[in-house]
Amino acid sequence: MESKLAFLIIALTCFCFASPPAAVAQSAKERKFAVHLMNRIQGPSFAQSREYCGYMVQLPSGKITTGTINPGTRDGCSPTRPENGQVLSSFHTHGGFTEEHYSEIPSVQDMRGDAREGIGGWLATPGGRLWFIDGPNNIARQICGIGCLKQDPIFRPGAQGKVADVYTMDKLIAVMGPE
Ligand SMILES: [Zn+2]
Repeated sequence: MESKLAFLIIALTCFCFASPPAAVAQSAKERKFAVHLMNRIQGPSFAQSREYCGYMVQLPSGKITTGTINPGTRDGCSPTRPENGQVLSSFHTHGGFTEEHYSEIPSVQDMRGDAREGIGGWLATPGGRLWFIDGPNNIARQICGIGCLKQDPIFRPGAQGKVADVYTMDKLIAVMGPE
């Protein structure tokens, strides 16, 4: 009896600890759409030195599209929640290249925003990197590196130091501070 109870407790404990938040799905179709979309908005983003942002949605037909694409400022952008379709993820660009901004990696605010909404987030950088932020798990992965998307002609590699392939929230805070 005792051993059975102990087994049950161990089984329950293991079950609880083995259930981190499910990673947000990121289908090949969504990724392909993200690359196409980002390449369309990188040009205006560099030319106007401002971010562009929005949400990617899936319509009942299965088609992936975006809600409104909003222009932002040099270092911020407020996306409009779409009225139609199921929200898959957020997306934004990081404007044009500057020497002083940490624009090649997601910001702490970027990750907090996607985490709050429980969604994924796509980010395009001036260097042409594509990131996917897994909001629920507070982790960002570089999907493809320098020059994989359109790149700002004035981009200078290494201006903000070494860029890793993966950042957790703690690592982002260590690099950029809490805000
Ligand atoms: Zn950002």
